[in-house]
Amino acid sequence: MAVKTIWTITHSCGHQADRDLADRPADRRAGFAQWLTRQECTTCWRAAWNESEQDRAAWLAAKREQEQAEAEAWSKQYRMPPLEGSKRAISWGVCCRHQIMTAAYAALVLEGDTGEAHWERVEEAARTVSRAGWWIDQRSSEPEDLAELLQAATDSDRSTENPYL
Ligand SMILES: [Zn+2]
Repeated sequence: MAVKTIWTITHSCGHQADRDLADRPADRRAGFAQWLTRQECTTCWRAAWNESEQDRAAWLAAKREQEQAEAEAWSKQYRMPPLEGSKRAISWGVCCRHQIMTAAYAALVLEGDTGEAHWERVEEAARTVSRAGWWIDQRSSEPEDLAELLQAATDSDRSTENPYL
């Protein structure tokens, strides 16, 4: 008699399921069936996975919201002007600007030998660039390139009227 191919598995979650193990070699089926009893059934496994995905999505959304709030607070504190662009570009751009500026400050002033006076000029230049897309484009730039990048910004990247200057 051939080794059976349909095995009734009682999963770790208590659910029973018939599994067709025909694609496994006959001498491996019993071992695999044993292993299956230690797993949750497909339905429970999927439900758990969905739940963890939802947790992950919620966690990411909360993290993004927090980053956004920090970036907004920072922009106010350092009198950075509101950015221009689509709504989505503005929120992203505010975060990029915050990240770029704080990373540059840490690398150039705190860890480097850039003086506060020189840094203030960099900040001044940063205040003139109000196109959200510009900041998004520079998001993976190196801190030491910031001053040069700011200089390279064109009129279309700058606001015609800056309420903070
Ligand atoms: Zn189950």
